Amino acid sequence: MRNSWVKYDTYTDFPLENLPFGIFKTAMLSHRVGVALGEYVIDMQALAATGLMNDLAIDLAVFSQNYLNPLMALGKKATQKIRTFLQTAFAEGNDSLLPYKDSVLLLQSEVEMCLPVYIRDYTDFYSSEEHATNVGIMFRGKENALMPNWKHLPVGYHGRASSIVVSGVNLHRPKGQTRPDDNLPPVFGFSKQVDFELEMGFLIGKETNLGETVSTEHAEDYIFGMVLFNDWSARDIQKWEYVPLGPFLGKNFGSSISAWVVTMDALEPFRVAGPVQNPEVLPYLQYEGNKNYDIHLEVLIEPENASQTTQVSHSNHKYLYWNMAQQLAHHTINGCNLNVGDMMASGTISGPTPDSYGSMLEIAWKGTKPVQMANGTERKFILDGDTVIIKGFCEKEGLRIGFGEVKTKILPAL
Ligand code: MN
Repeated sequence: MRNSWVKYDTYTDFPLENLPFGIFKTAMLSHRVGVALGEYVIDMQALAATGLMNDLAIDLAVFSQNYLNPLMALGKKATQKIRTFLQTAFAEGNDSLLPYKDSVLLLQSEVEMCLPVYIRDYTDFYSSEEHATNVGIMFRGKENALMPNWKHLPVGYHGRASSIVVSGVNLHRPKGQTRPDDNLPPVFGFSKQVDFELEMGFLIGKETNLGETVSTEHAEDYIFGMVLFNDWSARDIQKWEYVPLGPFLGKNFGSSISAWVVTMDALEPFRVAGPVQNPEVLPYLQYEGNKNYDIHLEVLIEPENASQTTQVSHSNHKYLYWNMAQQLAHHTINGCNLNVGDMMASGTISGPTPDSYGSMLEIAWKGTKPVQMANGTERKFILDGDTVIIKGFCEKEGLRIGFGEVKTKILPAL
């Protein structure tokens, strides 16, 4: 464990080993890059203004932008130099920043976190075998639960980038067309089955040209960092619309991400092996080394005016059948390009047991097993006024690297 002259709790999500990047503003300060450290935000624009970073030979203007895209585009060598600089400057015993302490360190509670990245394109995968199996059983029956392609390629779809919002932004219940009774015509109305999906997203920090492909070996060069991701879903709209082209209006009314982007450098100690893949995958999807990450995930629901939250799931990123390197290799195998700011989400991350399922659809099993809330009410899906909170963190030998949370309230339909 590193020690910092900035004091923070042992259980903070943001020790000196983490240093996630985000965008913040205050009433006085315009959008800029911040780095989380304990309860504080390091104002990177103010830090750059001290002149202490001039020797890094990077364009310090990246810290005064509305989004992290220009910073990510500097490349990993540059962002790793920034990380090393911060770990030195904030290490216990280093007093070089003390004269600037008040302008460089702000309390997180006194800033507003903004959408960290201008999201270029958004792809959602479907990479948890447990989730795909559960949904398959509910929508198609046990015999056809996993489609024949599922174990041969990481299934995905292109979603809507501009309806991705940061934690704290509320979303309205969607309206749309559903068919509650298979023997009657479809109806129009409010979705009655609004659901969360417990996911994680990763952000692309390096572009490719059309025609190029990225191998599993080199995929990690393109991944800047990760966020918590809630892929809001209207199950009744989704069920009626999804054949044959996949998700559309049941998904694109909003997705929510956490404000801090945790770099792959910070997550390095938490690599683990993924599930054994059987049958063997095609050569372009084969990989070497540990490509999954041991990230604990949990979902809580806070009903309106409730004094307590209720945890409805705890899962782990390591359960994913298809890893991020395979997802990128597959995404680019046809020559599809990558852009800085592209967002790739994992798909719902369900674990093997019912308390680790990553959506209400699965947890309450299509409404047949309602979930008890601490305030005495029960849930099959998400009600108006409910706030859904996803948290995530890694923990090992006293080191904790956290993601903070993504928190979203569902408001009545407009
Ligand atoms: Mn999803």
